[in-house]
Amino acid sequence: MDVPGQALRIATGELDQIMNDAPAVRQHLLTYIHALLIQNSQVALCNVRHDLLERLCRWLLLAADRFEEKIIPLTHDQLAVTLGVRRAGITAALSTLESMGAIAKKRGAIEIVDRATLEHETCECYRIITSEYKYTTCCRRSSSLRRPCRDLRSAYQAKPST
Ligand SMILES: [Zn+2]
Repeated sequence: MDVPGQALRIATGELDQIMNDAPAVRQHLLTYIHALLIQNSQVALCNVRHDLLERLCRWLLLAADRFEEKIIPLTHDQLAVTLGVRRAGITAALSTLESMGAIAKKRGAIEIVDRATLEHETCECYRIITSEYKYTTCCRRSSSLRRPCRDLRSAYQAKPST
C-alpha cells in the first residue's frame, strides 16, 4: 500500500465459495474488475497523451474519491514514482496547482482546497474512469444497490475461520 489505511484479506477458496453462494457478490466483483481494467487502460493512454498537470489532477481527484478525504498522505517522491516523472516536475506542477488555489502542499501530504479547479484542469480520463466506477460504490452511495455487499459480509461472517 502506498498510503496508510486498512485492507481486508480473504482466502481464495473462501472467496470462490462466497461467489458461488451469492451471485450478486460475484456480479459486484466482476463489475469492479471491469472498472479496474478500464482504469488501467485509460491511465496507460493518459500517460502518453496528456500533460503532467492534467495527469496529476486526475490522480489527485481519483485518490480523493478513494480516500473520501481532502488530505492525501503522499510525498512528492511517491507522486513522481506513481506518475513516472522526475520529482522536480511534480514539485513544479504542484506549485502551479497551489498558485491556482486548487491544493495546499503539506508536509508529507496534499490538501485538496478547490476540487472544481482540479476537475477543470484534468483531462477527460478522470470522467471516463469515474463513470466506470459508479456501479461499484454500492456500499457508500446507493441504498438500492447495497445487497451484494451485505451478501458478502454475511456470507463471510458465516464462514468459520480456519
Ligand atoms: Zn488523461
